[in-house]
Amino acid sequence: MTDKTSPADSLICAPITEARAADFLAALDEAQRIADAIELRLDYLNDEDRARVLAELPARLAGVTKPLIFTFRPREQGGRRDLSLADRQTFWRSLPQALISAMAYADFELDLVASLVASSPIPWKKVICSYHNFDETPANLAEIRDRIARTPAAVIKITTQATRITDCLRIFELLEGSPKPIIALAMGVPGLATRVLALSRGALLTFGALRRGAESASGQPTVAELRDRYHVKQLSRASEIFGVIGDSVGHSRSPLMHNAAFAALGRDAVYLPFEVKDVGEFVRDFVRPATRKIDWRLRGLSVTIPHKLAIMPQLDVIDPTAQRIGAVNTVVVEGNELRGYNTDVIGAMKPLDELIAVRDARVAVLGAGGAARAVCYGLSERSAQVTIYARDLVKAQRLADEFKAQAAQLEDFDSGAEVVINCTPLGMQGRSVEASAAKSEQLGGVKLVYDLVYNPIETVLLKEARAAGCQTLGGLAMLVAQAAEQFRLWTGEEAPTELMWQAVSPPGF
Ligand code: NAP
Repeated sequence: MTDKTSPADSLICAPITEARAADFLAALDEAQRIADAIELRLDYLNDEDRARVLAELPARLAGVTKPLIFTFRPREQGGRRDLSLADRQTFWRSLPQALISAMAYADFELDLVASLVASSPIPWKKVICSYHNFDETPANLAEIRDRIARTPAAVIKITTQATRITDCLRIFELLEGSPKPIIALAMGVPGLATRVLALSRGALLTFGALRRGAESASGQPTVAELRDRYHVKQLSRASEIFGVIGDSVGHSRSPLMHNAAFAALGRDAVYLPFEVKDVGEFVRDFVRPATRKIDWRLRGLSVTIPHKLAIMPQLDVIDPTAQRIGAVNTVVVEGNELRGYNTDVIGAMKPLDELIAVRDARVAVLGAGGAARAVCYGLSERSAQVTIYARDLVKAQRLADEFKAQAAQLEDFDSGAEVVINCTPLGMQGRSVEASAAKSEQLGGVKLVYDLVYNPIETVLLKEARAAGCQTLGGLAMLVAQAAEQFRLWTGEEAPTELMWQAVSPPGF
């Protein structure tokens, strides 16, 4: 074990990845303001710009109080320049003494370390020995770590590509048994947990980009995300872990809402996106207390597409509403038991109930997928008169039969309903943002139009509805309400919904 266990001395390190000398130096100033350590990626600069940066650096050092790591990486190991071993040796040997004195660390790749063992230009106590694998997280990681540990370098660094979430386990294992201070991270979206939890599990540092687009590796969050969203420096092994499992989860808004809520209530907890392909494997290795291969306090999960059905056979107890809907979107880990719930019904219905009484009302549900199912369940509990309109009449009829509703073709939709609820993705960013499930002329006489789509907030359907004089309700209300109910199930506390709302709303809403 390393002796570096206190979160207080753990670092968020910002790599400087600018390609022009002036930008590089400006980024250094910015990193000095917002990061705890700074990595100078000198391989991002061409010969001329690098010479300029190195010439100007000594004069700048007085203003740099954060530890500096110097890196000069060859392309085949993730760097930006074609560099022979001789080029790299020459670079390190020609570095002025003032810079060597000023640096906290120099990052030497494993092959460079081997070539300099007898005569390193940098004192070994300042050397990080690094290994990178951009294709996979190999099986023999512990062997690689031990090989690096036998070099004279002071710090071990291992960075691999996560191709699936289970790769995180092997990275966490490296942190456990390390004989020297270590940096161990998995790249890519499935590896995010290794970056967020690195400091709490004993890593020397974790990397955060200065801004989006300035990442030095795939899956690297920004400094602001690590510090302000995930609160990585406050986390410890005792912190509660929550997260969303899905494929993909990179754009999920749930981490914004739940992390803001945990912080507001002063709870020692973090909520992570987990990109999961195989639910059974994830539950066995990460979730179920009796079988999980990681020592952590995982307390609950949100479950999203495509795992809402696949999670069900993995659970010990399923709430009757979730059972009836046939989908679980929330897992609570209670002792040794995994319990499944569905908060989509309450999420969809609560904002609607606050605006209108749907009992006996004529309601048109557009779409016949998972969200429509939750809505139909909620409406049937309230004895609404429901017609389901879908482009596939067979699917509409199947859902209608289950909930004693009517079915019709989406193209035949016309007014006559008091409430219209869009449960199709029509109008969604990235898919069909210009589309609308209904036009204003189809909405005459409708009291309320509820669009479950929340991105964008102002959908074409909501504009059409206002043009027809209808009251409107957007999908953000459901997003927040279903998350608030998850929060309550996990913690037993009321969620700070106003704050969760702010966390997912663009400025001005
Ligand atoms: P889903 O299970 O895939 O169902 C989508 C439904 O929309 C299906 O009936 C589908 O018909 C239909 N559809 C898809 N593309 C269409 C098109 N171009 N024209 C007409 N109908 C189309 O998805 P879901 O989980 O129900 O989610 C539906 C939407 O609800 C999402 O896109 C999301 O925007 C929104 N949603 C919001 C929240 C929230 O918290 N606000 C929560 C869940 C969902 P086929 O079966 O024929 O493909």
